[in-house]
Order: sequence, then C-alpha cells, then structure tokens
Amino acid sequence: MTTVLYPGTFDPITNGHLDIIDRSSRVFDRVVITLAVNNAKQTLFTADEREALIREALRTGLPDRTNIEVVQTSGLLAEFARSVGAVAVVRGLRTLGDFEYEMQMALMNRRLYGELSTFFMAADERYIHLNSSIVREVARYGADVSDLVPECVAVALRGKVVESRA
Ligand code: ADP
Repeated sequence: MTTVLYPGTFDPITNGHLDIIDRSSRVFDRVVITLAVNNAKQTLFTADEREALIREALRTGLPDRTNIEVVQTSGLLAEFARSVGAVAVVRGLRTLGDFEYEMQMALMNRRLYGELSTFFMAADERYIHLNSSIVREVARYGADVSDLVPECVAVALRGKVVESRA
C-alpha cells in the first residue's frame, strides 16, 4: 500500500488544496494530510479549527473517499513519514515562485529520510494564483471568496471578520 503525505498549514484550506487532495487520492492508496502545528507561521485559525475545516471540506467536497486521513504534526515531517511508512510527500506547484523553496524542502526531506520522495502536482489553472493568505486578506475586507474556498471556510472566514470587529 502506497502512503503519501500532503503537508501544509491550511490556514485555511482552499479549493486549490482540495484539488490536490482529490487527485492524490486517486493516484495513491492512502493520503495523510499533515497539518503543521506550531511552525513559525502565525495563523488566523487555530490548529483544531484548521483540522475541523479540512474534515468538513472533505465530508462535503469528497464524500466518497475513504483513503484520506488528517493528522496534526509538530515535529520533522521526515520523522513522521518514517513512523507511518509514507514513501512520498505530495506538494502543489503553482508558479515558478514556488519552485525554489519546494526543491529545497524536497532535498532536505530526502536527506533526512532517504526513502522519502517528493511528487510535485501541477495546480489547476483556476487556482494558480490562489493561496490561503490572499483568501484571508480579501475576506478581511468582506469580499466574496465563495468560489475559491469550500462553503464551510467561507462561513468561518465571515465569523472571524465579525469576531475581529466585536
Ligand atoms: P505551507 O505552509 O506548507 O506552504 P500551504 O497550506 O500554504 O502550506 O500549502 C500546502 C501545499 O499546498 C503546498 O504544497 C502548496 O504549494 C500547495 N498549494 C497551496 N495553494 C495551492 C493551490 N491554489 N493550488 C495547488 N496547490 C496549492
């Protein structure tokens, strides 16, 4: 059985992430979405909120899939991969801007755990310019993001905006 990891911050999950998850779960036997907690990034949503949004997005967006799991991880990805028998990491590639950082990460992960490969999956053209920080930014100003994120995320973003104005 081929297990792969799809790591990220998912602050919050977007349709771009969901597309990568969808396609990975058709190609590989088991996809473990690893939600990075306590990395250097300041996040809008807590780890538990981000996990709940991923689970809800999967429940509504990919209801037929039984080979996708979600876990929170805080240590080295390579160590986690070894512990669950993952053979690869899947990362989405949007523009050339992603490439340099992604290549560095891929090489470091392989150095830490020689069995671990990285697969880059081309982003869907609809989501090439989509990332979580843009979604957070425009949602802060009340813009409609419903075609970019799952419905539960759009609702949660509206909730955060209301919270921050209270
Ligand atoms: P990280 O902090 O690890 O970059 P992100 O949640 O921003 O976490 O992204 C996780 C993964 O999803 C990365 O591989 C990133 O390139 C990919 N990704 C992010 N947005 C998109 C998108 N719109 N289309 C395809 N892949 C994406």
